[in-house]
Amino acid sequence: MRISIIGAGYVGLVSGVCLSEVGHHVVCVDQIPEKVESIRSGKSPIFEPGLEELLRRNLKARRFTATLDMARAVENTEVTMIAVPTPSRNGAIDLRYVEAAARQIGHVLRNKRGYHVVAVKSTVIPSTSDTVVKPILQQTARKALGEFGLCTNPEFLREGDAIKDFLRPDRVVIGSDDERSFRVFKKVYSPFRCPIVHTNLRTAELIKYTSNSLLALLISYSNEIASIAEAIGDIDIVDVTRGLHLDNRLMPFLKGSGSSSGERITPGILTYLKAGCGYGGSCLPKDVPALCAFAEKQGYKPHLLRDVIGINHRQPVRLMDRLHHELGGLRNKKVAVWGIAFKPDTDDVRDTPAKPIVDFLLKAGAKVSVYDPLGLEQARKTIFKDCHLTYSESPFKAAAGAHALVVVTAWPQFKKVDFRKLSDLMKKRAFVVDGRRLYKRQSVIQAGLQYIGVGYRGSREVA
Ligand code: NAD
Repeated sequence: MRISIIGAGYVGLVSGVCLSEVGHHVVCVDQIPEKVESIRSGKSPIFEPGLEELLRRNLKARRFTATLDMARAVENTEVTMIAVPTPSRNGAIDLRYVEAAARQIGHVLRNKRGYHVVAVKSTVIPSTSDTVVKPILQQTARKALGEFGLCTNPEFLREGDAIKDFLRPDRVVIGSDDERSFRVFKKVYSPFRCPIVHTNLRTAELIKYTSNSLLALLISYSNEIASIAEAIGDIDIVDVTRGLHLDNRLMPFLKGSGSSSGERITPGILTYLKAGCGYGGSCLPKDVPALCAFAEKQGYKPHLLRDVIGINHRQPVRLMDRLHHELGGLRNKKVAVWGIAFKPDTDDVRDTPAKPIVDFLLKAGAKVSVYDPLGLEQARKTIFKDCHLTYSESPFKAAAGAHALVVVTAWPQFKKVDFRKLSDLMKKRAFVVDGRRLYKRQSVIQAGLQYIGVGYRGSREVA
């Protein structure tokens, strides 16, 4: 199939490269010339494990390319996917990129012969495709739905695992309000073996928000229990979580193995049932508020989801309040932050919990040094553009001479730390603030450091 994708970001580029890998001919359209140039030369503008190799292979096989020329891309393909940003504006969804893309596609469809399907891959509030995208396409194309097709096809890939997720999907969701759009569009996924959930346009859109809201809910639930554990004292959330996870409805016994062998399935969802310093990234922090804002506009107040958001906002601040208290103030204290990317294996720093943490520290007068294996460059250009920080090229350099170290991202290289070495180069009895519960408390304390961990407050916080 010949497919054009508008937007060559995380979703557009990964989808494009993967769809060409399974045999389609794909062209990604972007409006940033350097991005297009970089993609065409085989260099991925974003970091995603395995992406660059796949990009080069498919460029070479001439199944994949990138362009600035939207008109030609749409003209020469049968299906166009919209994968442009849907950011947040005052807590509600900002549809201006989706609307602009729909207008541009519609203009091309006006003179294009043959049936063409437009699919909205961006995450959009339920009813966007039928009440916003459809009218724009009909007006600009001067054609009625039926003369062209319209689907929604929300994307569920996770950054850091995006290639695997796309090439081995657990399900594909396709929304359409007419049979023909679906019949044509589903061919995009014919090389994949997975269930296809076919619904109307707005149901497909809500499936995406339901999925993201559940993930956010599980994280905030875990963080709320962690805060309760802290308030009571002498309870470690890690032990609580282990006791929870071993419920066989969460970790079922392997079929046929019986409970005696103890062999269990560890579902991926459990990684969201863990306490930490809050969720971040390009999806949950914008999508949950967008759903709430829209529900409120429709006359329903989503109390539970509003609390999920509130807990997530407070989580990094609560952790920094504890450090502030333990250090007796932060003015002129040196604090190192390990991890800026919102999760490991990505350079994406959008809405990372590192941002409120660093903001808190700077506001309180601390001197902050940061380290991240991949996210420093992005952070310097975007979220920390106006901040006075030290960017370190190694974790130990960042921590040298610091009164405290705050671990924000669970990068594998942060998991194994030589605490003796760390203790030698940090200030005497410096604090390790374990925002992801990566460390054994005792190992930190035995090295002469002090420990603050999400979801644990001892009768004496300090050993
Ligand atoms: P992104 O910012 O990484 O990429 C979007 C790209 O679209 C940019 O390169 C931008 O230049 C380009 N663009 C915008 N308007 C354009 C236009 N009119 N013509 C050509 N190019 C245009 O965004 P993303 O992370 O890929 O997210 C895209 C959508 O997918 C969002 O709705 C997001 O919520 C959703 N989504 C993202 C993820 C994720 O993990 N990033 C996962 C699932 C869904």
